[in-house]
This record gives sequence, C-alpha cells and structure tokens, in this order.
Amino acid sequence: MSMGGLTLSNRIALKDVKNKRSVRLPLKNFIDPVFEKYHRSTYLNSDPLEFVHRFTDPWDQEAVALFSAVLAYGNVKQIRKSITDLLERIESLGLSPAAMIRSLKATSGRESFLRVIAGFIHRFNVGHDFYLFSRLISRSWERHGSFGAHLVSLVAIDDSDFGPGLSRAFLDWEAWGKEFSEAGEKSNRSFGYLITSPTDGSTCKRWCMLLRWMVRKDEIDLGLWATGSPLLPIGRMGLNPGQLVMPLDTHTGRISQYLGLTSRKSLNWKAAVEITHELRKCDPLDPVKYDFALCRLGILDLCQSRFRVEICQTCDLLRVCRFAQKGLSSRASRSTRS
Ligand code: SF4
Repeated sequence: MSMGGLTLSNRIALKDVKNKRSVRLPLKNFIDPVFEKYHRSTYLNSDPLEFVHRFTDPWDQEAVALFSAVLAYGNVKQIRKSITDLLERIESLGLSPAAMIRSLKATSGRESFLRVIAGFIHRFNVGHDFYLFSRLISRSWERHGSFGAHLVSLVAIDDSDFGPGLSRAFLDWEAWGKEFSEAGEKSNRSFGYLITSPTDGSTCKRWCMLLRWMVRKDEIDLGLWATGSPLLPIGRMGLNPGQLVMPLDTHTGRISQYLGLTSRKSLNWKAAVEITHELRKCDPLDPVKYDFALCRLGILDLCQSRFRVEICQTCDLLRVCRFAQKGLSSRASRSTRS
C-alpha cells in the first residue's frame, strides 16, 4: 500500500527510528519486491548484456558475451561505445562474431582481424589484447566446442562455486598464451587486465557477471552454460545457478554493505562469496538472481552513495538498510535537539 509515495512498511520504519526501536527483519521480504520491479528486460538497455541479446546464434552470443563482459569496466557510456566499436570492426570483416573467432585458426583470418582491431582502445586495453583474447577463445572452441564446455569440464559437480574451475581454465589460457608468445605473438602487459582469477583474490566482477549471464536462464540471462545448452556436449551437465558468485561492482558492493551482507570493508573474492552465502537465505538455489536488480538501483541513480531521505523513504529496502537507518537516526536526533 502506498500513501503519498511512502509505503506502509516505510511509515513503520520511520516510526521505529523515531521511537529508537531496532527490529531484525528477514531480508527476503524486502529484496524480493526489488527483484520483481527491476529484474526486467525493459532495463536491459542500461546493461552490456543488451548487446548479447542482439544475436540469436549461441556461439555468436558466447563470443559477444565474453567481449562485452571483459569490456565492462569504466562508465556505462564508455563501455557501450567500446562494445559498439569492437562489434563494428568485426562486422567490417563481413563475418559474424563466431565466424571471426573460427577464422583465427588460419593465418589469413588472424591477419585480417589484426588489421581491423588496430587502433582499438578501451581505457587500459588496446586492440592487440582483444586479438589475443579472441585467439584463446578460438583455441577453447577448437578443443572443447565452446568456452562454456571448456569451463564446465573443469568445474566439479559438487564444487560450491565456479571459482576453482575458472582459475583452471585461465591456467590453460596462460599455457596457450605462452605458446602464442613463443611463436611471436607476445601479449602486452595490459592483456592481464582482461583476466582476473579468483585465486588472485579479486572480486572478478566481470567474470562473475558473465557467469550469471550464461548460467541463469530467464528473460534477462541466457542459460547457455547450463544443462541442455547447444554449447555443451550432449548429455553433459552444465553449471547450476547455485554455483554462481555475486558480481560486486561499485553499486552492488555498497548496497550489499548497506544491507549488512558483509562486514568486510574491502570488497574482494571472499566478500563476494560471503555476500552470496547471505543471499542464499533469500533464495537457496539462485542467490545471484538479485544482482541485476540491485545493480539497477545504482545505475539508475535510485540509490545514491549519500543518504537522501526523499529517495530512501520510498525505497523497498529502507527497513533493512543500515545506511539509511543511520541517516534517519541522526536526522531524528537532530530534530529532537532543535
Ligand atoms: S541507501 Fe536508501 S535508496 Fe539505497 S538501499 Fe538504502 S534505503 Fe534504499
């Protein structure tokens, strides 16, 4: 029930703060409405995943998902510009993204891609990084049929998350990268920025996000690395949503802290695993389903990094948000004093 933009629940929250009452409430009751509101394809245009939805062939989708995910750092406008630029360069070859990846088996394909990718820049990365990245994808496809199949072959069915499997896939890539380097295709230092391994302890936000896109399946996510996908060998079990880890970016990281999902100050792999563990209390089988919706709160400026009473009092999370509760308390004590 909403009265003048303020829900009944939030009126109670404001009263609780005034009366200095602290109540512990189940997060699920408040986070599920956020999921229902914002986990919608109408918001895809604010996300790099939108580029993947432009394609229908699963191998094109895998290639575009890999490119879009690793380019997803910096501001949204720059990310979209760089993905568009990269896809246009591939299109100028007269090839689909998947056909370009396959063309890299031949010297002529490699020379053509090197020619069109020259001059490409996205913040710390340059065109040659994407050439090598594409070479590695191409090798995974040759050996396993897809990168998803490569990854699935390295994740044990009882692994609690995909982290160890992804790290093993990157070890394969490292060995193949050395091979390319010995054959004269050396990588730049900037290439390392594309590959963030869970074993290094970083949040691996872009890879966690890619995994969410490719393992969950609904109107937003594609389910292409899940059981039954054409990208996997027939009969091979895929990854399941319970093995995903929450992608932590500036928005989902701070909102998770506001909700008390982690008490860690620094957001790293351990924090991402801890937050995922807490979200299992809201959905034991699919804890990462909240990522897209929580991220929208930040991207659409619906939750800002400073306390704004006019925004927070209409937010579904107000009653479980420690940050807003603190803001409301100090406001209440200021008004009592004056
Ligand atoms: S800070 Fe405000 S807008 Fe952000 S999650 Fe908390 S209550 Fe919602």
